[in-house]
Amino acid sequence: MPQPHDSDFAVDEVAEDIARLRIAVVNVYLIGSPAGGGRAVADWVLVDAGLAHGAAEILRVAAERFGVESRPAAIVLTHGHFDHVGALESPLAVWDVPVYAHVAELPFLTGRANFPPPDATVGAGVLARVAPAEPGQGIDLGDRVQALPATGRVPGMPSWRWIHTPGHSPGSITFYNKKQGFVVAGDVLFYGSIGRTDLPGGDHDLLMRSIFDKLLPLGDDTKVLPGHMDLTTIGKERATNPFILEYAETNSRN
Ligand SMILES: [Zn+2]
Ligand SMILES: [Zn+2]
Repeated sequence: MPQPHDSDFAVDEVAEDIARLRIAVVNVYLIGSPAGGGRAVADWVLVDAGLAHGAAEILRVAAERFGVESRPAAIVLTHGHFDHVGALESPLAVWDVPVYAHVAELPFLTGRANFPPPDATVGAGVLARVAPAEPGQGIDLGDRVQALPATGRVPGMPSWRWIHTPGHSPGSITFYNKKQGFVVAGDVLFYGSIGRTDLPGGDHDLLMRSIFDKLLPLGDDTKVLPGHMDLTTIGKERATNPFILEYAETNSRN
């Protein structure tokens, strides 16, 4: 695969305690307040791991933001697609930390079920070393990955709750912080778009119901931090997202 360019990476601060690291077309989030105020090491969580070639950048940004000795309390996954778990190998070699995902996503993360082959832009090489396998075979994190608590609690993120928002994949989840008004949306809802549902395990109607029943009720001011592309808000998507408008129109006719 081509060598990554510097422009493949960018960090921006969404809030004092939320940084977005863009790895090519994928967003990962580092959630927790940076070190400071006499603390050399901070408490934080990594949400998703992005494309394989971003692994070193994740470690670099984490050290810079939280301290060289720091490691996250946990790594949490919005879902198990290659473009969101591809860089897990290096961080997991350095950090002895648990990985959490929705229980319905675990088969794809423990080698028991396969997502389709990653496309050409996604580096399967590093993953192949985590889980020697045919291209396209699910990643096998073994006992490094476990189900999120059924209570909705997110380990390491006390102000956040996870919400099951299936449709893009069976165990797709979003992370919601009511007080700050943020939802980390993975591949469920994007700026002007929604997650694709043509992959195995995808279900368009289920995805739309997740968006209508679980995300839109979070309120128009809620900021959406997606797994790809730019940030948006629930209000903006409710008003302008063509998939949401079409679904609303279709269902009001029924
Ligand atoms: Zn995905
Ligand atoms: Zn994705």
